[in-house]
Amino acid sequence: MFNEPSVSTGKACLHCKEPIKGRSDKKFCNDACRSGFNNIKYADYNSHVKKVNQRLKSNYKVLQSLLNNEHAKWVSEATLAAAGFQFQFYTHVQLHPDGALFKMVYNYCYTAHERSMYYIAKSVPEHLTVGQFKEQRGLLPI
Ligand SMILES: [Zn+2]
Repeated sequence: MFNEPSVSTGKACLHCKEPIKGRSDKKFCNDACRSGFNNIKYADYNSHVKKVNQRLKSNYKVLQSLLNNEHAKWVSEATLAAAGFQFQFYTHVQLHPDGALFKMVYNYCYTAHERSMYYIAKSVPEHLTVGQFKEQRGLLPI
């Protein structure tokens, strides 16, 4: 069994500032100090990333729920907003070959059109232009 020597390293613990005993490369007294130090160091990062991730997750669930197993549909801005959708939170953008810019929430996508209508889909419709999609569905619902 390896016993750590109780010789001081001459360094102070990065968390509690007590002198560290043991190996010369140690930065903390123990796991509790290491964990306490990292909790403080990453608290700001964690709180910001967590907030944005929660909003993205919520938007994902809204799109999933509104699609309700359909691949794509048109929904009003009011419907999305009423479901709690936050339009400024998306993971990335994807440009459709016809020029439409889709905002992505992971694999789901949405794009705004006239009369406050949004096209939402489980993935960007590579095989179908937005114009063709409109034709298939007739005029946009009001
Ligand atoms: Zn310590």
